Amino acid sequence: MIKLVKLTFYGGVNEIGGNKILLEDNDTKIFLDFGMSFKRRGMFFEEYLTPRSANGIGDFLTMQLIPDIKGIYRDDLLEHYGRKPEEPEIQGVVLSHAHADHANYVSFLHKDIPIYCGETCKHLLEAIEEQSQRSIESEVLNYKKRPIYKNEYRNPPIKRIFHTFRTDDKIKIDSLEIEPIHVDHSVPGAYGFIIHTSQGPIVYTGDLRMHGLHAEMTEDFIEKALESKPVAMITEGTRIDVGTTNESEQGVYNESIKNIKGNKKLSIVDFNFKDVDRFTTFYKIARQLDKKLVISFKHACFLEKYHKDKKLKVPDSRDENILLLKPKRLTGTYINEDYNEWYIKKRLNYPNVVTAEEIVKKPSQYMVVLNFYYFNQLIDLKPNGGIYIHSLSEPFNEEMEISYDRMMNWINFFKLRFVQAHCSGHILGDDLRELIRKVKPLELYPIHTEHPELFKKLEVGNIRMVEEGKEYQVLKKI
Ligand SMILES: [Zn+2]
Repeated sequence: MIKLVKLTFYGGVNEIGGNKILLEDNDTKIFLDFGMSFKRRGMFFEEYLTPRSANGIGDFLTMQLIPDIKGIYRDDLLEHYGRKPEEPEIQGVVLSHAHADHANYVSFLHKDIPIYCGETCKHLLEAIEEQSQRSIESEVLNYKKRPIYKNEYRNPPIKRIFHTFRTDDKIKIDSLEIEPIHVDHSVPGAYGFIIHTSQGPIVYTGDLRMHGLHAEMTEDFIEKALESKPVAMITEGTRIDVGTTNESEQGVYNESIKNIKGNKKLSIVDFNFKDVDRFTTFYKIARQLDKKLVISFKHACFLEKYHKDKKLKVPDSRDENILLLKPKRLTGTYINEDYNEWYIKKRLNYPNVVTAEEIVKKPSQYMVVLNFYYFNQLIDLKPNGGIYIHSLSEPFNEEMEISYDRMMNWINFFKLRFVQAHCSGHILGDDLRELIRKVKPLELYPIHTEHPELFKKLEVGNIRMVEEGKEYQVLKKI
């Protein structure tokens, strides 16, 4: 019998994010990640023009936000769109990490397709679910059967099958054996994989980096990847066009503490809740400067999940150095009935809840984590001077630039001093070239990059330029 191993790439090809990689080894079919492509979605949709759940899976298939493949999608969504339900034809989805561009479109997949992810990744997906509204585009852990009629609102959601792993575990999916190996990225619980196929090992990097706090995890991955002597490697290439920079998490710490130290007014910072290293950086700064770190109820959901994960060494949201900022809602009087969201309600009785009015009395004693979308709270926090640390990436598209300009208007209005302090979650070009040279795959498939052509210059193996939806055969080299 001739054995065949095939790779087909959907989304995340020649763009940053949206990976959905179909790997077929004879009768075994799996997906590596099943993410949302922000670029593809942004071509047609925006804030007030969105794909309709009233059309089942139709808007997503028609506008090619997801590939039209048989045997992978939810019965309810297919039927709602007027198609017949299909038996699932893939045996699993292996998730590299919890970022939306890798995980969110699991939302559309058939309930009987099991999802494999890291333990911490699952915790993170739970935190994301806890503090966000149900949407057809992010029903990763569970979903509500559509359409939802009024008398069915309270019906419990349908849970997906999850299998979690840690480094050193081995995942068996039919004929495939998959080794997950931790990597460093801007989110905890991120993995790269060695997939043992009938044609030899295929390595998938997921998203990773060398310049973060846990470079040794990425080193472990590289080590195992090269030992496996891979026939092929699928690699991210987000920053292949950036040779090298001096960015690091330590650099974010240095720049931030230098600016916050001596600030007699309010200190405000913004960073991504999913980035536990960044949280740790600012928590450390707050403690060293004897300030309380003020976080939102949304942020508390993440912290509590991280805290349970002993390896992460993150404090609980009720830690003595942390306060929870109670937002003004409905009556504006902070009474309990003003809050409808369960994730806020269940935390209203925490001993460390504060209001902006308390912070205004002694602003220098606080460091407030405040996201741009909640900038209207600046009106209550009355900063009149002070510092704002933007610990996120700089805008890289038109939409982000519009928000960025608006953000700067708020910063200037409240006379805040703006400081940019960030380091990326993605490997730099020079580090990536070094990684590829070390691993020495016989074939290289660059994805998750807007500059695949830059890989062509590499003098390693066979570099395959990937086209969306095209099938590539991986053959054992003799
Ligand atoms: Zn990522």
